[in-house]
Amino acid sequence: MKPYAKKRFSQNFLIDPNILRKIVQTINPQPDDFIIEIGSGKGALTDLLLKSSAIIHAIEIDDDLIPDLQQKFSKTSNFTLHYADALTLNFTSIAPKKHKIRVVGNIPFNITSPLLFKIFENAKIIDDVHFLVQREIARRLCAVPKTKEYGILSVITQFYGSPTITFDVSPKVFRPIPEVYSSLVSIKIQPVINNSEFQQNYHTVVRTSFGKRRKILRNSLSDLLINKSGDCPIDLVRRAESLNVEEFINLTHWLYDSN
Ligand code: SAM
Repeated sequence: MKPYAKKRFSQNFLIDPNILRKIVQTINPQPDDFIIEIGSGKGALTDLLLKSSAIIHAIEIDDDLIPDLQQKFSKTSNFTLHYADALTLNFTSIAPKKHKIRVVGNIPFNITSPLLFKIFENAKIIDDVHFLVQREIARRLCAVPKTKEYGILSVITQFYGSPTITFDVSPKVFRPIPEVYSSLVSIKIQPVINNSEFQQNYHTVVRTSFGKRRKILRNSLSDLLINKSGDCPIDLVRRAESLNVEEFINLTHWLYDSN
């Protein structure tokens, strides 16, 4: 019996060869690339990626899909399958020592945010990311200050790289058909500051600032402002949604650097 699509794993399989080709054209895999594909599914994208001769490590959580994937690509030497949860598999343990990895996929919508945070945690070993995500999420990743889409995901993502939306994808190209449009988002990973302690502090400042989105910074950051004196480079009467990445960086320096 053929495995049916499972909602709990956000299974919406791509069935349109043109869209699959466009995604692979955007990724532009090269023979010496090391690519992790999140959620191989029935292998539609995997198949095209493998043709580039890049080394492909596919991660799939659904044990019903594993036997077909193993069989389909059994003779393909550049393919490794990980029957695992992409959120818990240690990327460092499978990545080559010599060069950075690329991470791609028509990703399960229910794990988009935690997966992105995992990518950022592993920023040192990742070159770029190409994810098909819900269009609304794609807009949030690329949003600019003072818009309703702008929030934690925008400010954190834009600290780690420059997200761009390459194209939108109609629900009709998936089976089963989802309720929303998707977009292919590409992010070249280049953290503004490559220091993990600073990155932790930056996350704390961004999350705390947006925790009470409508409040002015002086109120939302009140716990972090205890014992803080001197002139803050950012006017604390402003709201989180008006600050760009550079301003959040300046605010983090001021809050955490000892001087
Ligand atoms: N790549 C295939 C395609 O484009 O047709 C499948 C995409 S489907 C949207 C998402 C895939 O991710 C499913 O095969 C699902 O089982 C798998 N998946 C869901 N959660 C996962 C997780 N935590 N780790 C790894 N794979 C996961």
